[in-house]
Amino acid sequence: MWEFTSPRTIVFGENALEYLKAVEGKRAFIVTDKVIKKLGFADKVAGYLEEAGVKTEVFDGVETEPSAENVMKGAELARKYCPDWFVGLGGGSCMDAAKAIWVLYERPDMEVAAINPLEKLGLRKKARLICIPTTSGTGSDATWATVITDVKDCRKMELISREIVADIAILDPELPKSMPPRAVGDTGLDALTHAIESYVSQWRNDFSDGLAIKAIQMIFKYLPRAYRNPEDKEAKEKMHNAATMAGMSFGNSQAGIAHAMGHSLGAIFHVPHGRSVDFFLSYSIEYSAREAMQRYADIAREIGIEAKTDEEAVKKLVEAIRKLEREVGAPASIKEWGISRQDFEKRLDELVTRAANSSCTFMNPRVPDVADTRKLIIYAYEGKKVDF
Ligand SMILES: [Zn+2]
Repeated sequence: MWEFTSPRTIVFGENALEYLKAVEGKRAFIVTDKVIKKLGFADKVAGYLEEAGVKTEVFDGVETEPSAENVMKGAELARKYCPDWFVGLGGGSCMDAAKAIWVLYERPDMEVAAINPLEKLGLRKKARLICIPTTSGTGSDATWATVITDVKDCRKMELISREIVADIAILDPELPKSMPPRAVGDTGLDALTHAIESYVSQWRNDFSDGLAIKAIQMIFKYLPRAYRNPEDKEAKEKMHNAATMAGMSFGNSQAGIAHAMGHSLGAIFHVPHGRSVDFFLSYSIEYSAREAMQRYADIAREIGIEAKTDEEAVKKLVEAIRKLEREVGAPASIKEWGISRQDFEKRLDELVTRAANSSCTFMNPRVPDVADTRKLIIYAYEGKKVDF
């Protein structure tokens, strides 16, 4: 038996935000950050909710890669306000924070680290969740995971519960128009990594497969356009939808070693999530192909690559990914991005241990041991072709 969990309602397309005018409730607690507030999005969301007769309060204190302390502070304010809606507005950090704040609001007896698939949280007794992404990549609006940083331990906690999925996801293509090109590239490549890792995951299933393939096709087609021209409405909308589809897909299968190593690099060197996972995507394919040749070849053929053998298809897929990365300005290796060899070597043991222990590692089609994880991280640092 298998279960597919996704938001109950996904509102998308032009003017999707206006859906808020019809939301029923009393008080909404909008969880966002200072940048999004400054762009006027929080006021816009609040304005629509007030038209629906819902009072609002904005918490704009979400930090990039939110910590447990940050989330506790938000929950304390929420408890004073007593909302019946939470609205996660922003990139992955804001939506992940909204999920965690919501849990702590309904369950003041709990610590955020205790969120896990086996724990019955009993949410929705007091409030429900709306997620509104302003970037096109994380898919957090569609997943039942939240990533919270444990500052003391310099560790990213990947916390999972089917209960924390949003009730409503609103994908308005107007919002990601404000993303700078670098963020368009990074978040778009994150979405691509979600979809590819999902398609080859050991937990893949018919439902996650369909969403993954469609998202991959859309990302290859529209990401370069969205990167080059923020006014390209069609490309922006397609990328926004593709990111959520990829989120629904990997949320119901699992990410793989590009995420395991990316989370580790991100926590230690403070690399933005999209960029850190992308550093490892092509290397993870070269490494994993031995165990998932047919699956990667499927992906290659679905994006129009012609090849006589599966091996050739996979080789061309890796080339196509590297070409796409160059088109959207992603550095070819971690070294090129600017982490010095000395800093890298000093933290290498830690990078390896964290990646090897990540839950994402175990669902990868080929599960690397500690020695292979170390080699892979070094190869990604150097930008070397994986040959083991
Ligand atoms: Zn990701």
